Amino acid sequence: MAAPKKLSVKTGDTVVVISGKDKGKEGKIQKAFPAEGKIVVEGVAMVKKHQKPRGQGMPGGIIEKEAAIPACKVMLVCPSCKKATRIAHKFVEADGQKPQKVRTCKKCGATIDN
Ligand SMILES: [Zn+2]
Repeated sequence: MAAPKKLSVKTGDTVVVISGKDKGKEGKIQKAFPAEGKIVVEGVAMVKKHQKPRGQGMPGGIIEKEAAIPACKVMLVCPSCKKATRIAHKFVEADGQKPQKVRTCKKCGATIDN
């Protein structure tokens, strides 16, 4: 595999799955692993795991947990137009500061980062 790719999505983004058995599901990114190009999306790729009892308040049993999926299987859902979109980047200059790279929606042009 090549060098780690920079993920275009990050923790807290709402994304929609575009391939695989969870296609069409929408959820928030709970964790991102840029080095592996993988993300964990709320309610997507659920797997059952056996949990050992860990003492007080942790009885164990079977729990359902999200598995990490490749980030290329999702598209960002624009918080503004609510459509699955590709991401554009632009630089925004703040007063007296270095230009900041922000992500914008390719469909409606809204800024995704704030
Ligand atoms: Zn948009």
